[in-house]
Amino acid sequence: MSDTKPKPKKPRGTARLISGRCIACGARCQSSCPVNCIEMTDSGEPVIETAICIGCLKCVKICPAAALEMSFTPEEQKILAALAKDQAGAVEEEIDEEGRQLERMLASYRGVWVVIEQYEGVTAKVSWELLGTGAELAAALGVHLGAVILGHDVGHLCREAFEHGADTAILLDAPVYLHYRTQPYCEAICHVIEKHRPEVILMGATAQGRDLAGAVATVVGTGLTADCTGLGIDDKRNLMQTRPAFGGNIMATIMCDRFRPQMATVRPHVMPMPEIRPGRTGEIIHEPFAPPEEAVLVKVLEVINDRDGKDQVDVAAAEIIVSGGRGLMNKENFALLQELADELGGVVGASRSAVDAGWIAHSRQVGQTGKTVRPRIYIACGISGAIQHMVGMQDSDTIIAINRDAEAPIFQIATYGVVGDLFQVVPALIARVRELKGQSGRYEPARAAA
Ligand SMILES: Cc1cc2nc3c(=O)[nH]c(=O)nc-3n(C[C@H](O)[C@H](O)[C@H](O)COP(=O)(O)OP(=O)(O)OC[C@H]3O[C@@H](n4cnc5c(N)ncnc54)[C@H](O)[C@@H]3O)c2cc1C
Ligand code: SF4
Ligand code: SF4
Repeated sequence: MSDTKPKPKKPRGTARLISGRCIACGARCQSSCPVNCIEMTDSGEPVIETAICIGCLKCVKICPAAALEMSFTPEEQKILAALAKDQAGAVEEEIDEEGRQLERMLASYRGVWVVIEQYEGVTAKVSWELLGTGAELAAALGVHLGAVILGHDVGHLCREAFEHGADTAILLDAPVYLHYRTQPYCEAICHVIEKHRPEVILMGATAQGRDLAGAVATVVGTGLTADCTGLGIDDKRNLMQTRPAFGGNIMATIMCDRFRPQMATVRPHVMPMPEIRPGRTGEIIHEPFAPPEEAVLVKVLEVINDRDGKDQVDVAAAEIIVSGGRGLMNKENFALLQELADELGGVVGASRSAVDAGWIAHSRQVGQTGKTVRPRIYIACGISGAIQHMVGMQDSDTIIAINRDAEAPIFQIATYGVVGDLFQVVPALIARVRELKGQSGRYEPARAAA
């Protein structure tokens, strides 16, 4: 009979939150807990019911901010110390094989890419904006920034991409890419992803970008966060993708920490335009991949240009916007805003209420389900300032709000606020602008409108 005592079982401890570390990532710890012992506070931090915790470590492993750790009672600490002594101090960390494989896979992806959107050789501005953001992400990761350029006869865009911050340009130039079609573009992007393995891919949240990003993410089997308003890198090289959630009432930070590449789309004008550095150069990587035309199911018969249509105004590109909401009362009253916009050299925008009422075209809608704008001057007339409207215009340089309700939320973000009836204030503004124009002959809209 042996007189050796049975070894004490290694204590598992209980999870606890490290004060000040939680980034309110969206309750990942809570959803990982197998025994439902985590509740979330209103500010998005976990509260752990230690009496129920079984010390499985799942929440600790999943937390992107390393905000959770295991805690042991003094008794448990003694057992751990004894066990450690028994094993001559070699208490090995139990890293499971699955974890090791994941680490290897993540380490095999490096680099940040921006897919450059072009139409007839002219680039969508959002692609340049994304190169600015991409450069910051690449610097944080210590990697190169690549621009993926697809099209026919688009080699000249490489130089522009370098001047906007790209270090390399991956060029896929072939007749099959003349017009955007999901199939060949998706095949091309998937091909270069497989070959070069970037860790982050950004695209504009335009009609083309939304279509392409979704198709690519599906084929390569990774996550995609649409319409991001903020992007950053955490301490584990993961892309933190922030976007409005639940109808714009909260901002959620979404991570894709088990799959690569991490893909995100960003709407035009959300990110600032980077500084152009003329003459800056980089490396061009020519990719000969091109699917045969016969294999492409969709054929482009004719391109009907939207810009030839009735509504030629691009609200998103305007420097001065005079927007109207439900306070306008009817369609005809928008003529008043048009008059002010004409005097200021701007365009007319609208809230969704005005669009839903049929007073103005949807193409003029500003906000979460409309355009994101960043003009020099945004004049909101009879618009209350719902969060869904404000997310589309809050980054305007100067916001002027005209509303008869002094408590309207729009005043919280306005640079200048006028509490009054827009049907009196707007005609007075028009008259004043005309007066100033008459006086000086030379006219400075920013100062006059303010
Ligand atoms: C999922 C979702 C997406 C949405 N997307 C968008 C979006 O992209 N864009 C958007 O705008 N909204 C969007 N909305 C709608 C949004 O929630 C609001 O309902 C909308 O913005 C309100 O429009 P408004 O300010 O014109 O109308 P109201 O909220 O009715 O405000 C009218 C304002 O006019 C003022 N007013 C009235 N008469 C006068 C007068 N004579 N002079 C001065 N002031 C006057 C009133 O005091 C009031 O503040 C979305 C909603 C949801 C749920
Ligand atoms: S250690 Fe396991 S049981 Fe305990 S809180 Fe975390 S996930 Fe839940
Ligand atoms: S997983 Fe980490 S960062 Fe996310 S809510 Fe839980 S403690 Fe906070």
